[in-house]
Amino acid sequence: MWKKILLCLVFLASLFLAIQVQSAQMDKSVVMISSDDGDWTLYAHVYPILRKYGLPFTAYVITSRVGTAGYTTWPQIWEMHWNGEEIGNHSDKHLDYTGKNYTTIYNDINNAKIKFVNQGLINVTSFAYPFGVKNSNAVKALKALGLTSGRGAWDENDQFNYPATFDQWWIESLSFRNFTKTGSFTQLKPYIDEAVATNAGLSIVLHLVYPGAVGAYELDSAELEKTAAYLSQLEAAGLIEVVTVTRGVTKQLHYKILP
Ligand SMILES: [Zn+2]
Repeated sequence: MWKKILLCLVFLASLFLAIQVQSAQMDKSVVMISSDDGDWTLYAHVYPILRKYGLPFTAYVITSRVGTAGYTTWPQIWEMHWNGEEIGNHSDKHLDYTGKNYTTIYNDINNAKIKFVNQGLINVTSFAYPFGVKNSNAVKALKALGLTSGRGAWDENDQFNYPATFDQWWIESLSFRNFTKTGSFTQLKPYIDEAVATNAGLSIVLHLVYPGAVGAYELDSAELEKTAAYLSQLEAAGLIEVVTVTRGVTKQLHYKILP
């Protein structure tokens, strides 16, 4: 008798846990591609390649560099935004926030926000930490300024985002560039496949992308093209959604709060 009751309780507990796990898992993986710094290759290569495959992305721009040598211009940024890409805040001066006080960090993020608004870019709510380093003063400033997320750029801890543990102020990311564990399409593909298999949020970060790129913060545009072709194929098969960072954050928060 007692044994039966105990078994019944164990069964109910496992059912409860299964429901909990199920509610914390997304219906399918979301892939968020973002490009950092607003360098010239963003407009010349990243934008046309991703657009060719119908994949939206987020461009994190350093506002003090817009229009300077080697960087995109405001009209190019506006054009990308108008055609559906998300523009993100990557600070005004790209300072290393380590050891900086709250006011310095707040001003660096706010100065970028003011420049975006002055260009008519009133929907810039995503932030990427300069040098990919999370900082508690920066998180406080982001909240005070009404921004909605903070993206990292390193993968020491984890490479995937799951609703149950999702932190909108620290979006886990994979850096897609030379000399990393994900330095080519062939190396990145297993991570994409794992994201598909586990319905994960996968954030892929790009820096300079151009044909034949050889530097450490660079990627050959052919590798991006192969990746874009694969992602669009997965999307057409209904296995993933490729979205901007804000949409990816929205979906993960939605699944995180599901009862
Ligand atoms: Zn940067």
